[in-house]
Amino acid sequence: MNIRAIIQKIKKSFSHHEELPNETVLGFLQVLENVQEEGCSCDEVFTKIDEYVEREVDKKDAEDLMPVIREHLDLCPECCEEYEALLDILEKTSQDKK
Ligand SMILES: [Zn+2]
Repeated sequence: MNIRAIIQKIKKSFSHHEELPNETVLGFLQVLENVQEEGCSCDEVFTKIDEYVEREVDKKDAEDLMPVIREHLDLCPECCEEYEALLDILEKTSQDKK
């Protein structure tokens, strides 16, 4: 189940009740939706980061190929750190081969 489906489910469960949903909860849902629309999640980035870094070192076209990842890296310091660490390792190992 993705996050959008969960939001839909929560919204539906609200509409079954007579009383108005808590404003804080609604605000929270709004935030969740906005976050989701900004691009991919950290989990997604983590599964593709190896490929992205390899591509970056090898053909330098990772950004064109996976712009969503690049975008996320700019926004998310955690994933960016992971990316830089991997890039560092890969650059060193590719230099050793030459
Ligand atoms: Zn992230």
